[in-house]
Amino acid sequence: MTDLEIANKCQLQPIQQIAENLGVDPESIEMYGKYKAKLPLEALDEKLVERSNLILVSAISPTPGGEGKTTMSIGLSEALNQIGKKTTVVLREPSLGPVFGMKGGATGGGRAQVLPMEDINLHFTGDFSAIEKANNLLSAIIDNNLQSKSNSLGIDPRTIAWKRVMDLNDRALRNIVVGLGGTTSGIPRETGFDITAASEIMAILCLSSDLIDLKKRLGNIFIGYTFDKTPIYARDLKAEGAMTALLKDAIKPNLVQTIEGNPAIIHGGPFANIAQGTNTVIATKMAMSLSDYTVTEAGFGFDLGGEKFLDIKCQSAGLKPKAVVLTTTIRALKYHGGADLSTLKEPNVKALENGIPNLEKHIENVEKFGITPIIAINKFSTDSEEEIEALLAFARSKNIKAAVADVWANGGKGALELAQAVVDSVEAETAAFKALYDWKSPVEEKINKIAKEIYGATRVEYSAKAQSDLKRIYNLGLDAMPICMAKTEKSLSDNPKLMGRPADFSLAVREIEIAAGAGFIIPITGNIMRMPGLPAHPAAEQIDVNEEGKITGLF
Ligand code: ADP
Ligand code: MG
Repeated sequence: MTDLEIANKCQLQPIQQIAENLGVDPESIEMYGKYKAKLPLEALDEKLVERSNLILVSAISPTPGGEGKTTMSIGLSEALNQIGKKTTVVLREPSLGPVFGMKGGATGGGRAQVLPMEDINLHFTGDFSAIEKANNLLSAIIDNNLQSKSNSLGIDPRTIAWKRVMDLNDRALRNIVVGLGGTTSGIPRETGFDITAASEIMAILCLSSDLIDLKKRLGNIFIGYTFDKTPIYARDLKAEGAMTALLKDAIKPNLVQTIEGNPAIIHGGPFANIAQGTNTVIATKMAMSLSDYTVTEAGFGFDLGGEKFLDIKCQSAGLKPKAVVLTTTIRALKYHGGADLSTLKEPNVKALENGIPNLEKHIENVEKFGITPIIAINKFSTDSEEEIEALLAFARSKNIKAAVADVWANGGKGALELAQAVVDSVEAETAAFKALYDWKSPVEEKINKIAKEIYGATRVEYSAKAQSDLKRIYNLGLDAMPICMAKTEKSLSDNPKLMGRPADFSLAVREIEIAAGAGFIIPITGNIMRMPGLPAHPAAEQIDVNEEGKITGLF
């Protein structure tokens, strides 16, 4: 059965019931149909947040073999509920880029899914559209200011860093020229589109503590310079009020349910290779206000999503995770160990052992934050007993807890051992979370620390452009912000081809962008793109709708 067929067989509970189970007055939620609702911001209670247990689910470096972080987060949350811990899973909203590109959504799989999956994967409650509009409103205001005689700020069009966004993979929009068509149609200039998930507005929404904080951050967005080199921010264009108006509902977290009828909050969706890769602070704190355990996912491998979750999100929101789960699969480890994609279903203990150094590096990385990870082995039906035993033996040799979790086939009951390991860890209070770096240290020092300690690079090389970007950051006085690396997720290095645990490489910083509103600095490494393209045969080719409006072919 496909994920969609499994999802369609489930009997959903009305969303008011899910809210009531969470202790939220069903009258206070805003309904988006029968099974989706926005939670009221008043339900967030900082005092309750402090008492709750935050569990981060991350993973080894992703491979085409698949790791299953979202699936594992959902399954773990079901299992924690089964053993009597009131638990909410908090996830990111899917982007249409991957939905129509490479087959894959963000609502889990098999018996571990959030529902209604086709709604969540498509327009959901319109948050992405609101983000896109707010982003593009600022673009329109900027281009209008270039055109206007009466209101001109004298912005130099060549310095404008702000781009338009759209939530699709569309490489043809990466570089464009706007303002063609003569004197009434604007000032021609070169610009481009990023995908909505990479928008600074997305990052801002995800880090904001409330509407006023959101508005302040929107006002702080850096636009570019005037001809006499004065920096211009969104507030200089009086844009932040209208942008906040567009986002006033998008800031509220979305409540849905899991297959087993447990609560799930899905909110915000930045990618982890180009942004901070984790759901909103408000959503995480909302779940923590309403439950004893909150399970959340940080995108891609721990080197990207995990590091940013801990150094950016947790630092800025004052959160302290009590446990980190590293999702790994036998298939992915074999791929890291040099096995060919076509052979991943065949037992190969040797390749598995050759791939384990990738896992080992991620374990060491989690430990740098004062937390000993728990390994979740996401079981695929093709895994052999010998392979699983070899991986468990490695964990024992490192004194790390590991549990096989079969949530894809069995839902929560497939992760009871993992859930118990998480509870034991939390109750033993073993985690002593500390950040990797001090936000106030020099930018190069922060970048170096991430590159060397987390990625394992021997040195960092800055292009001429990156060096002048660095100067600009110091001149603008924006150097005390945290670092949000843009790097390939496929490797610990900036070269997607280097599998396993790469050694003796240097990290190439191509340029450094400023996200003054979100409050971080983005070094762009390798060939990473902020507007992806579609594959030769996009998943969109398989998606269809029948006469009754039922969607087919969506995973
Ligand atoms: P991630 O969050 O790491 O990107 P997902 O949880 O979204 O990964 O899973 C990616 C895909 O792999 C999904 O289509 C899911 O159904 C599938 N998948 C995950 N775990 C398993 C498993 N144990 N067996 C079979 N398919 C799985
Ligand atoms: Mg995921």
